[in-house]
Amino acid sequence: MKALVKTKKGEGFLEIQDRPIPQFGDDEVLIRVAYSGICGTDIHILHDEFAYYPPVILGHEFSGEVVEIGKSVTAFEKGDYVVGEPHNLACGKCYLCRNGHIQNCMDKRSIGWGIDGSFTSYLVMPEKLLHKVPAGVSLKAAAMAEPAAIVAHQLLERARITPGDQVVIMGVGPIALLAAQMARIAGAEKIILCGCTNDIPYRLKIAKELNCYDRFIDVLQEDAAAIIMEETKIGADVVVEASGAGSAICTAIKVLKKRGLLCAIGMTAREMVEIPWNEAMMKVLDLQFNMSSSYNGWNMALSLLGSGKLQVEQMIGVRPLNEWQKAFADVENGKAMKLLLTPMAD
Ligand SMILES: [Zn+2]
Ligand SMILES: [Zn+2]
Repeated sequence: MKALVKTKKGEGFLEIQDRPIPQFGDDEVLIRVAYSGICGTDIHILHDEFAYYPPVILGHEFSGEVVEIGKSVTAFEKGDYVVGEPHNLACGKCYLCRNGHIQNCMDKRSIGWGIDGSFTSYLVMPEKLLHKVPAGVSLKAAAMAEPAAIVAHQLLERARITPGDQVVIMGVGPIALLAAQMARIAGAEKIILCGCTNDIPYRLKIAKELNCYDRFIDVLQEDAAAIIMEETKIGADVVVEASGAGSAICTAIKVLKKRGLLCAIGMTAREMVEIPWNEAMMKVLDLQFNMSSSYNGWNMALSLLGSGKLQVEQMIGVRPLNEWQKAFADVENGKAMKLLLTPMAD
């Protein structure tokens, strides 16, 4: 099978290789990959900016069909459409695992960077990390379950956005638009999106189609902090940082109301970010960092996809696996919202 492999450490070294169909164990299933989303993490791995274990097949946001099952598998059978939590090799013994946070286990080696992933035709996953795709949800839409589960975990399970909340979202990418939709579903009264001028022709158009915000601010042309204070009167209840921009993190602190909450769902390109510490202190702000997704997050995301409340099809483009290079570039340059790679027939 053809697979997109990061062959060794360093900038680049990403290429299509021929790989054998993988072997599976008793508690595992073999999945024929349908679609696999390109994530910011994949771009970071291409540029050697994220931990990974080469040679490794990239791809961790997959949907597919079960084609073989191991001897002890009980919950899935051939023909099931599935998605899966990329929390492979979590130890099950550490304080994180035993408290239910397997996604943060220090032994975890996710598909797509720790072990072979889904930018290929066949993938092996343990039964215990899989979820069935709800009836009526396409395999294309299901490939968005992983990022949707991250957002559901953070916004619905941890931040507990409630009716009446005024929510500011920093960014107009896939995570931001999932967050805006989930804030709306949770009953947020006002949702303000912050982006840049070059988000307007393409990304904002998709946000408009999704009807997921009340006000857009072009932070390069407008005074974001002043507008948010005018719109919210006393400041935002919650700011979701999904832009990776240091300036957005500063603005977040300035526009939160007292005892407000800053949710960080994104890395920033810079190691150090300067923030108005005393202002955050005087406002008694909460700050939640988020990395990866929980079981409940997956449950919520799949339920919302199944009910049709969460719309993802508008955000998706599909490219053949052998056009990965252009697809990666389009994602990196903001020329696409979410691109899924689909394996070529081989
Ligand atoms: Zn991802
Ligand atoms: Zn562990």
